[in-house]
Amino acid sequence: MSPRIQAEQNKPYRRKPVYPPCLAEDFWETMNKKNVSYVIPCYNEAAVLPEFYRRICTVADARSDYEFEFVFINDGSRDETPQLLNEIADKDSRAKILHFARNMGHQEAITAGMDFSSGDIIVTIDADLQDPPELIDEILEKMAHGYDVIHMQRRKRPGESRFKLASSSAFYWLMKHVGNARIVENSGDFRAFTRPVLKAMGQFREKHRFMRGLFAMIGFRQTTLQYDRDPRFAGQTKYPLRKMFRLASNAILSFSATPLHTIAWLSVLLWFASLVYLVKALVDHFLLEITVQGWTSIVILMTFYTGIVLFCLSIIATYIGRIFEQGQRRPLYWLYDAKNIDLREFSDISRETRISSNILDGK
Ligand code: UDP
Ligand code: MG
Repeated sequence: MSPRIQAEQNKPYRRKPVYPPCLAEDFWETMNKKNVSYVIPCYNEAAVLPEFYRRICTVADARSDYEFEFVFINDGSRDETPQLLNEIADKDSRAKILHFARNMGHQEAITAGMDFSSGDIIVTIDADLQDPPELIDEILEKMAHGYDVIHMQRRKRPGESRFKLASSSAFYWLMKHVGNARIVENSGDFRAFTRPVLKAMGQFREKHRFMRGLFAMIGFRQTTLQYDRDPRFAGQTKYPLRKMFRLASNAILSFSATPLHTIAWLSVLLWFASLVYLVKALVDHFLLEITVQGWTSIVILMTFYTGIVLFCLSIIATYIGRIFEQGQRRPLYWLYDAKNIDLREFSDISRETRISSNILDGK
């Protein structure tokens, strides 16, 4: 191999991906300074933040060949999180803080963090240290091979309740059989991706967001990296049953019309059942000469059918509800304050998030 080609191959970010020309190629060509953005959604994470910050600083200091920024999103926390984040931002200009006006949800927080991050490589990571930030070495190593999306896949999940593990495997089973998105099993929202992917993702503004599904369908060169998940460093899960259920229904309803199709199958099934019942009634009447049996069976059947009809209506109503909410075109999130971020640089996003003018004026 000629020394020139060898030198070319040793430059990790010069390697051209072998697929579509487009954005990605320009990106690899023009990129000379490597910036990494950590996107960290935080909801009532005061107990873990100091330790989390200490660990990402150690990681960033160890990789002086890269420039780091930490985009923290305070998702309407009600504990000391906002103050802690502001303190971090005051002494460290790498820390960029977005304060949501209220709790909008994990997926919206990640979206905002992505909107306002300026890195060439973006890593979305939970604040609770279940996902070790030290894995950046392995992530960068994989990226150097030309991958655009790296899904971090959990090998082990110590410290999770039995209920969480069972509901999670039920969720993956459902996604596989009902949902259409080919999501990577046992991967959460710990993932790394390049700027072209971020740009593409930025165009997906749907309200009911399931980032894992969107990332799975977006294309580019994707791969997985396995890791052992740690237990939560402190505090409790911010995903109660209600939020988990919402995420699962977003995942299924946003990526699949199967629930609508089941209605058709249900009606075929019921039609067949009523046919069988009709035959039985005729046999009873003409062959067995059994007269009217009373109305119990009628009532049972009526309630049964009404239940089915209502069930089907509720599925349709859920989809219509989503069309209604999407039609309102409300912003996905809106900010209360921001620190260390010049929001004017992100003017197109600023408009969408309806940032109030006094924030834009830096007051
Ligand atoms: N989170 C958030 N908004 C929410 C719920 C959670 O920003 O409404 C953040 C939370 O602070 C954490 C991440 O999302 O950084 C994942 O939450 P958690 O660790 O509680 O979820 P689990 O790991 O238990 O599924
Ligand atoms: Mg967690």
